[in-house]
Amino acid sequence: MATVNVLCTQCNSDQVKKIGYTPEGKQRYLCKSQSCKKSFILDYSNKAYQPGVKETIIDMTMNGSGIRDIARVLGISRNTVIDTIKKRI
Ligand SMILES: [Zn+2]
Repeated sequence: MATVNVLCTQCNSDQVKKIGYTPEGKQRYLCKSQSCKKSFILDYSNKAYQPGVKETIIDMTMNGSGIRDIARVLGISRNTVIDTIKKRI
């Protein structure tokens, strides 16, 4: 039987446990690390929730891409791009 090692998307800890399913039927996990305690799933349908997207927005902004450029390239909402940039300033 094949096993899949699941690591926390926030802190990369392997101290994770299954805590049921999302309404779409995807497995939800909880990080048991004391400092983290976040829940997550592995395949987000919403592209803006996927790991690394927020960092990509900041990188593209620093390299001169406009808000509409970023939204088109990453396939996410313009408002998500604006909110992310505002939070990092
Ligand atoms: Zn964690």
